[in-house]
Amino acid sequence: MRGPGTWGTRGVAVGGAEPGAERLLTETAAHAIELRREIHRHPELGFEEVRTSALIERELDILGIEHRRVATTGVVGIVRGALPGKTAALRADMDALPIAEQSGEACASEVPGKMHACGHDAHTAMLLGAARVLASRRATLAGNVVLLFQPAEEGPGGAEPMIAAGVLDDPKVDAIAMLHVDPRLRTGAVGITPGPVNAAADELHITVHGKGGHGGYPHLAVDAIPATAAIVLALQNIAARETDPLAAIVVTLGTIAGGYRNNVIADVVKLTGTIRTYEPAIRDGVEERVRRIVDGVAAAYACTAEVEVVYGYPPVVNDAPLATAFAAYLTHETGIPVERLAPTMGAEDFAFFAERVPAVVGRLGIRNEALGSIHSGHSPQFRLDEAAIPTGITTLVAFAEAVTSGAL
Ligand SMILES: [Zn+2]
Ligand SMILES: [Zn+2]
Repeated sequence: MRGPGTWGTRGVAVGGAEPGAERLLTETAAHAIELRREIHRHPELGFEEVRTSALIERELDILGIEHRRVATTGVVGIVRGALPGKTAALRADMDALPIAEQSGEACASEVPGKMHACGHDAHTAMLLGAARVLASRRATLAGNVVLLFQPAEEGPGGAEPMIAAGVLDDPKVDAIAMLHVDPRLRTGAVGITPGPVNAAADELHITVHGKGGHGGYPHLAVDAIPATAAIVLALQNIAARETDPLAAIVVTLGTIAGGYRNNVIADVVKLTGTIRTYEPAIRDGVEERVRRIVDGVAAAYACTAEVEVVYGYPPVVNDAPLATAFAAYLTHETGIPVERLAPTMGAEDFAFFAERVPAVVGRLGIRNEALGSIHSGHSPQFRLDEAAIPTGITTLVAFAEAVTSGAL
């Protein structure tokens, strides 16, 4: 019996076990691993994924899958089944990060200062693998599967321009899924959690104004530094005293900059930070709280302040009935073990798709101590256990076939 880390006990049988299905999937996984290595060697940043788009188009052409360009470097493919049914979408992000790779992988980046440190190389390769399996089953496929290869997830965001280009509209998408590799979970397992799974990430910019002067004559100036120190401490009250302790919130100040030299009173101090929340009601109230605290504390110190909140990616919320049903379906049909993972305070622009269409984010286990596949995403040491790739392909195919056939 094969373990779930390879093809699952019945993983190949999703949607009907035609002869040769297992061989097809074994070959597909091997090819996807080759593609993952090719993409990994040539990482590209957001909206610069020219080589990656060309690779995707080359592979879709080989499979005879229609496709078009959207959002500069994004690619949309459509697998049209022979039978009537619903439309599922599968999304993979394509972009890399400005990190110098120190993973020690044989297929390490050949581009100085750029690295696939978040596993998007594997996401793209797995979606191409799922495309190959689905294309081979067109004759028995009910409905359509839309393949979304999305640029710039790490920023500035490729999901919104793809939606603006109509990728959810024709054919109209009924449900959407994505996988993200996750070193918290062992290779072979998938994590599916109903409800919130990724936080909203909003930027905070604060400027505190005083009046400069001589460090020896503070009474003739208005010092922005003690005012800023009080603001930094007071902002902690938003999480500690003003928010339901059972609701998640983070207010982190990441930078602080001000002043000129040791004996000069600073006239201006700038702070930047990030606000992370899951629930719209909590998210909506934070800006007002930040403004009240910053303005009030600044006034108490005879200073003035400006606050700007730049709203970023919304929270990702898994459709609870769909996620629960798919978790049961996946284990039943493929033998892949499904675990409930805690949500993360990381952000993900798949949120924009999930706001419009019932959605499931699955976490794909890649943890393998023997291979050193233990580091979190965005680490220069990040490594990826490629044995997870067949599990990922099986999961994507299972979602697509479950939605299109009406099983979910
Ligand atoms: Zn990332
Ligand atoms: Zn990522």
